[in-house]
Amino acid sequence: MTKTPITVARGDGIGPEIMDATLQILEAAGAQLDIEEIEIGEAVYKRGIKNGIEDSAWDSLRRTRVFLKAPITTPQGGGFKSLNVTVRKSLGLFANVRPCVSYHPFVRTNHPKMDLVIIRENEEDLYGGIEYRQSRDVMASLKVITRPGTERIMRYAFEYARANNRKKVTCMSKDNIMKISDGLFHRVFDEIAADYPDIENEHMIIDIGTAKVANRPDLFDVIVTTNLYGDIISDVAAEVTGSVGLGGSSNIGLDFGMFEAVHGSAPDIAGKGIANPSGLILGSIMMLTHIGQGGVAAKIHNAWLKTIEYGIHTGEIYRKGISKENVGTADFTKAVIERLGQEPETLPVKFYPDVEGGLKLPPLKPAVEVKKERVGVDIGINFDGKPDELAAKVNACVNDNLKLQMISNRGTKVWPAGQPETFCADNWRLRFMRDGDSQEVKTSQVIALMDRMNKADLNFTKSVMLYNYDGQPGFTVAQGE
Ligand code: NAD
Repeated sequence: MTKTPITVARGDGIGPEIMDATLQILEAAGAQLDIEEIEIGEAVYKRGIKNGIEDSAWDSLRRTRVFLKAPITTPQGGGFKSLNVTVRKSLGLFANVRPCVSYHPFVRTNHPKMDLVIIRENEEDLYGGIEYRQSRDVMASLKVITRPGTERIMRYAFEYARANNRKKVTCMSKDNIMKISDGLFHRVFDEIAADYPDIENEHMIIDIGTAKVANRPDLFDVIVTTNLYGDIISDVAAEVTGSVGLGGSSNIGLDFGMFEAVHGSAPDIAGKGIANPSGLILGSIMMLTHIGQGGVAAKIHNAWLKTIEYGIHTGEIYRKGISKENVGTADFTKAVIERLGQEPETLPVKFYPDVEGGLKLPPLKPAVEVKKERVGVDIGINFDGKPDELAAKVNACVNDNLKLQMISNRGTKVWPAGQPETFCADNWRLRFMRDGDSQEVKTSQVIALMDRMNKADLNFTKSVMLYNYDGQPGFTVAQGE
């Protein structure tokens, strides 16, 4: 087998200790790796580099496209940027993969049968950071879900399930409320699921799904969800395993992978030789399956499970009556190496196929052309007063091609025929639709309307054109509209 080049960073705090342990195990197991080291984290931040990574380190990352990363200490304040976010965004790592497993009866947990993987979309959703102050009292954040981004994460979830012998993929969204954005997420899930008849699929609303993960995690296998829901549910799931410190995670792009432990640099125990290297070991197993060295991955995983099963535990998971030996990092590492080639007796034995070149996603489906027709415009206005007063001022500005259809406040229709009880903040949405449905609305008509409103002292904060796509509205109706 030819050696796969990888980039390694030893990080801060306990990073160098657990990376040492992990590299020893990788070597003893026969992983075929050509290692390049880069420096990241505290020392780099201290040299005044705001994102904690030198320009030269990018050369190595771009060359190897595989990054095994120990945790780093992120400096507080001072305009420093998160290294993780920088790497994730710069390299297009669209999938965050976090297995959450309980190791009953060897590590204490309330959920003995838990073995699930959360695949979180990493680039879109509310994490684009597109936010606006719309008025004195109203702040808004834009949720962005795209078809290619969604297709990619769904493909990854099903390909991951297939490559890792998983049986079911559950999509979680809130499409009963966010019909357009989460609606697309759910719809693309259904489309892609149809290409994988060998894998069961289901959809759950995120709220009940999260509750079920907290209470019955054994019902799940692979979960795929959007960025924000994934952020929350992966912490819920990690917590209920009972062993947050035993988590590995990966961030995957089309042609790039970053692998690490879930935990941080634990400065409180750094240099003491007592850190548990398991999170990074499990991260390195994910790396091996990603680069197509599944056989070595399984060998290490089974030896690690056997060690846990035998009761050789580091201090933070050691429990009298359950564990046998309380060991430090070096002895734990030695115990895993001694067990290479053995399999666990009670915990499930792992198997990963050797896929040449690792996991590759099929290309995106070609974009389908749609007929797009401009049918109206929503205009945002700051106004202190009653809906009827606003409607009277606005109606004085409309003319024959665009009529005021409704006014909403915080998403609820307040004119015409709003409920007097509805609370109104100081930012309003005016919806203008074409009069009749024959003619497409012209941009010049919208500009003329805005000009008349401006002259009437109705200063708009934003405008959004309303389109039909193949005759279907590309916008939602307001609550009560
Ligand atoms: P932490 O995960 O480092 O530590 C939380 C607690 O868990 C500590 O008591 C620690 O001793 C313990 N712990 C963590 N890993 C352990 C291990 N492998 N073995 C035994 N005990 C372990 O979280 P924190 O204290 O909130 O953060 C410390 C630093 O790590 C911060 O600077 C934070 O920004 C950074 N951090 C980095 C990453 C990363 O690089 N991916 C992730 C999270 C936090």
